[in-house]
Amino acid sequence: MSNRAPAAVPVPSLGPWEQVGDRTWRAVAQPEAVTIGLVAGSEGALVIDTGSSPAQGEQIRRSAEEVAGVPVVTVALTHAHYDHVGGLGAFADLPIHAHLDLARHLADPALAADLAPYGVDPADLPRPDRTFGVVRAVSLGDRVVELISVGAAHTDHDVIAVVADVKCIFAGDVVEPAGPEFGPDADPERWPASLDNLIGLMLRPGWTALPGHGEAMTMSEITLQRGWIASILGEVTNLVSDGVRYEDAEQRGDWPFPWERIAPGVRTAYDRLAERGFAPRDQLPIIRKDLRQD
Ligand SMILES: [Zn+2]
Repeated sequence: MSNRAPAAVPVPSLGPWEQVGDRTWRAVAQPEAVTIGLVAGSEGALVIDTGSSPAQGEQIRRSAEEVAGVPVVTVALTHAHYDHVGGLGAFADLPIHAHLDLARHLADPALAADLAPYGVDPADLPRPDRTFGVVRAVSLGDRVVELISVGAAHTDHDVIAVVADVKCIFAGDVVEPAGPEFGPDADPERWPASLDNLIGLMLRPGWTALPGHGEAMTMSEITLQRGWIASILGEVTNLVSDGVRYEDAEQRGDWPFPWERIAPGVRTAYDRLAERGFAPRDQLPIIRKDLRQD
């Protein structure tokens, strides 16, 4: 989700592990209904994302080992939002895999604000020690999970975890059934092309993506969401051409998702276009379309 802490601090909780394939499970952790992934091999298990607090991280680790029947031996992070990294403290003794840009975001003041209600100072979180730029294969003995950087999307360091032998991808927050979460750190220009890296992996029948929030999505659903995400930048371009400022964009624009999910991303799109000299201009009344007599 975005860098927004809830107004009242909910008590973290963890739902049951649900099997989604051979020795592959997911559980839903609150707050934020965040997906936690679990993949077990002959030499141990991988946990994908860690929840919102050290206590929740410990609960994830303990229950994961019960259901998997092997020790958790390593952890992967999809991105540095609080509901994905807040439980890292429970995994400090294990190798932690993440995109090489993730550590920089652990110093983000917004993350500190989001984690403060859970008693977590991001400065105390263990740093990922198995970082990568493009792809990383994590061996669990008799099977491998591939971690792939898809490019800038929901953040600038999004990673998906591909469990090829069960055709399942833990997708982090690059897609969500409820619509994309366009926080201030999302990239409205590059997000659609980044999603092509996920879609390309799902071209053959039988693949499923498990988003960071919400139920599983098919390639068709993700492709549709990709198009809608691309339309946001197009709509901003249209609005700027018509002289519509950001402050009026909610009312004047035609948006594919609820405004509250995309407002910061629309703001970013305006800023990016303005950096290139493309900004709304006041039109003189004489050329305003609505006043033309022709
Ligand atoms: Zn997120």
